[in-house]
Amino acid sequence: MSKQEIPYKIYLSEDEMPKQWYNVRSDMKNKPAPLLNPGTGQPLTAEELEPIFCKELVAQELDNDTPYVDIPEKILSFYKMYRPSPLVRAYCLEEKLGTPAKIYYKFEGNNTSGSHKLNSAIAQAYYAKEQGLKGVTTETGAGQWGTALSMATAYLGLDCKVYMVKVSYEQKPFRREVMRTYGASVVPSPSETTEVGKKILAQFPGTTGSLGCAISEAVEVATKNPGYRYVLGSVLNQVLLHQSVIGLEAKIAMDKYGIEPDIIIGCAGGGSNLGGLIAPFMGEKLRGEKDYRIVAVEPASCPSFTRGTYAYDFCDTGKICPLAKMYTLGSDFIPSPNHAGGLRFHGMSSTLSQLYADGYMEATSVEQTSVFEAAEQFARCEGILPAPESSHAIRAAIDEALKCKETGEEKTILFGLTGTGYFDLVAYEKFHNGEMSDEIPTDEQIAASIAKLPKI
Ligand SMILES: *Cc1c(COP(=O)(O)O)cnc(C)c1O
Repeated sequence: MSKQEIPYKIYLSEDEMPKQWYNVRSDMKNKPAPLLNPGTGQPLTAEELEPIFCKELVAQELDNDTPYVDIPEKILSFYKMYRPSPLVRAYCLEEKLGTPAKIYYKFEGNNTSGSHKLNSAIAQAYYAKEQGLKGVTTETGAGQWGTALSMATAYLGLDCKVYMVKVSYEQKPFRREVMRTYGASVVPSPSETTEVGKKILAQFPGTTGSLGCAISEAVEVATKNPGYRYVLGSVLNQVLLHQSVIGLEAKIAMDKYGIEPDIIIGCAGGGSNLGGLIAPFMGEKLRGEKDYRIVAVEPASCPSFTRGTYAYDFCDTGKICPLAKMYTLGSDFIPSPNHAGGLRFHGMSSTLSQLYADGYMEATSVEQTSVFEAAEQFARCEGILPAPESSHAIRAAIDEALKCKETGEEKTILFGLTGTGYFDLVAYEKFHNGEMSDEIPTDEQIAASIAKLPKI
């Protein structure tokens, strides 16, 4: 199809929006390994998970077989407030790069949370409300998930307690105030408000916190307060299910114009946006209908896919959560405080981990200064100020497009632009002032935290 026939932005009408989520596990021959009870080493049952998570979400977490799940009407109407998200042809970037490649991105930053996280937040809050709960607890790193969840809980009338990684709480006061605007209470983690927080503070005085610590605190509060459950913004199978709306919309939009991506690229923190973006494409690949190159991009400072070990590990520093089999750097691994680009989690979705282990996808790592160079280049021609996390995918997409320039190949590249970076300007400032460095963990550092993996 010629350039004129494909618009800059491909939108879907409300009627064309997906009405069901797609569960990629249903098409996997090797299912993701089950969550284990850390006490017994046995797979966790629904009864054991229900004191932590909402009942319906537990059912979704454990369901490896149902291919399509109806999106409840109330969630669909919430989606309609900010979806469909546009699929954009990056004509300006292509021209700047002088590449014959065709670049598309699915932009998830058009809502107040500034990221894709709202897609799962509204689903998780909805099931909590349906169950008659009073509220939910969670952790947040950079703040996108906490913001998304507080938007969802405000909409449904639920209480929301957010444990925010201390370094972000201090560096991102504006994010915190957005959450409070939506009625959430926000506590810097580690804190003195929980047993596990006190323990971590005693062991590591002055720590700036990590997602792993904040998860431990949020889980403790959920399990100790009647009428509360814990919700998590990434990593879990249920989150990938909800995020499949990204890929389903992208696929419908591309099919309308007969576009087929050769390469699909996403940044990977816990794996939720990537898992969502690739879901329907991976389904075709798993069923042997199509082939796509699928690439996960992670920071060189927190490289779980590319330098981690595929093993059972704790999802949290306090070691109170279930064990998940995943590519991990060890639950004690804390990325350098110099690391400004997000994606700080030590592990990875067990669904994506299994797909990676089985060779269905690739992974690459990029250094943060080159990520911010790509972010700036993108902002200057596409007009959107990207989140640092998203900019990992931009970096990889630009690199693929530059390869096409050398070889003359007209590849079609699709990448996930997960969000905007308005609250990340301290990181941009460091970059502009030349104060940003690339902190890459040594093999010894990784080996030291891997040595402490639970023995299963
Ligand atoms: C949370 C976040 C990510 C990373 O999380 P995943 O679960 O790996 O998708 C990426 N981009 C943005 C903007 C985020 O907020």
